[in-house]
Amino acid sequence: MQTMTHTRHRGWRTTTLAVTTMALLLGACGPEATVPEAETLTDTGAATTAAFAAWSAKNVVTTEEGHFLVEGDMRMLDLAEVRRYWESFTNNPNALSVFRVGGADAAWSRADREAITYCIRPTDFGADYDRVVEFMHRAASGWEGAANVKFVHLKALDSSTCNRSNNLVKYNVERNPTFTGLSAGMGFPTYSRPTRFLELGPTSTWTDAELIAVLTHEFGHALGFVHEHDTASGCGMVMTGSYRPLTCYDGRGAMHYPSMPGWLDPSRTLNFISQRDVEGSQALYEAPTNVLSTSSGTVYARKRSTGDLYRRDALVWTLVGGPGQAFVAVGNTLYGQTPGGGYPVQFLGSSWVGIGGNAGQIFACAGALCATDKVTGNVSRYNAATGVWTVIGGPGSRFAATTTQVFGLGPWQDDYTALYSGAGSSWSVVGGGASELVGGGTKMYRLTNDKGLIQRYDGGSTWTSIGYSGRSYVAVGNDVYGLRPDGSFIMKFAGTVWNSIHGSASRIFSSNGYLLAQNLDDTIERYDPVTNTWTNLGKP
Ligand SMILES: [Zn+2]
Repeated sequence: MQTMTHTRHRGWRTTTLAVTTMALLLGACGPEATVPEAETLTDTGAATTAAFAAWSAKNVVTTEEGHFLVEGDMRMLDLAEVRRYWESFTNNPNALSVFRVGGADAAWSRADREAITYCIRPTDFGADYDRVVEFMHRAASGWEGAANVKFVHLKALDSSTCNRSNNLVKYNVERNPTFTGLSAGMGFPTYSRPTRFLELGPTSTWTDAELIAVLTHEFGHALGFVHEHDTASGCGMVMTGSYRPLTCYDGRGAMHYPSMPGWLDPSRTLNFISQRDVEGSQALYEAPTNVLSTSSGTVYARKRSTGDLYRRDALVWTLVGGPGQAFVAVGNTLYGQTPGGGYPVQFLGSSWVGIGGNAGQIFACAGALCATDKVTGNVSRYNAATGVWTVIGGPGSRFAATTTQVFGLGPWQDDYTALYSGAGSSWSVVGGGASELVGGGTKMYRLTNDKGLIQRYDGGSTWTSIGYSGRSYVAVGNDVYGLRPDGSFIMKFAGTVWNSIHGSASRIFSSNGYLLAQNLDDTIERYDPVTNTWTNLGKP
């Protein structure tokens, strides 16, 4: 068990590799995990059937609708699907993986991924209804901070008709009265409406930490992700008939049961969004940054229907690039990442040039571009003048930067917050764990583990609480802004209170000193803090 001591620094120190590219280091896979014992049965049909029956007895429950709940919460519609899933996972080394049906990913389309709607039937939850509403927002915001997805609570539909027949939502949320303990279940995106719902156990008996962990895991299924503990340690990236791997195995995260072999710290019993989850969800759905500005004010935006990148030139939007996993502006330089966990590229004004090997994710890093290694999880920083990448730290769960400093959260998210020294690969612990980092401005902010508070870094190990839960937060210059949990208002922190500066929005962005908002109709607005006014820039 890890404790709050300085030994935690170790996780951030790596051997000081002076690498010149981001090429994969083969054989340098993630943490070792327990190797399962070899199967002693010979692979005859009878033995296979017996093995499936033995596994099914422990892991498959038939529901009253004639479906099958696999491993407690993955609803599958017929036994053949269960059998295909079981046949496909034995000893396949990969972690975050997307379910596949009929040779295609069980993932939301571009149109639907930003409108994963749901309603909640109030009477199912009684006095716990308001809490369920709030924690659905908090769990959704975790995935929305990781990838370009958006869960939308259609609260006006929260009534007795919020049921499996309601076709105005993608999911209805209901209480399954037969569930006890931390049980829950959620259908994959490809399921038809009557079989795609979120069913929850007795939420009123769950702690806040348990509620957010369970919902984070179930929302992972709603994005198409299967259980990670069905896979083996390593980084073989083997695709099967039932799923496609998106990342190497890491023994932690949202989709791995903490009770199952391979989980690296049995003293931790709750799911959270790990570095691999961020990278894998971006590989499938792209990074959440749809709008960017350079230092000089040139705005770029991703078009929802195609994923193409456009630049706003005077009054027209000009196509400058195809879909990418991520786009990042550092000063006046625009970078991208090729799709599906590809390599970083730099925009040269009319064309793009590759500047490194395949990466897990790219992000702005205090005046530079940083990227994570898909295999080791290490963070490297790019020197644009020399074209050299240098490792500056080991794996974490989140990374973000102010205009001058780079911060990270430990691999377990709840373990520590670390600050990069600026040299070599030396980091220091500057506080306990957190669920998210909020960068972009002159100060760093973070969200507490249950996402109930936003805290400002005030030096040393001091984090000062300045506000409550929000859908998302960004820092711009000396200011910090938040979107209300239901997306109804953009708020600005005024020293002691938060003031509304804009009505409902889909997302807010901080980029090189500018606050930008994406409205529900995808139009983009830029904020001028001096005049407290917004300029509508239209949309590509
Ligand atoms: Zn599950």
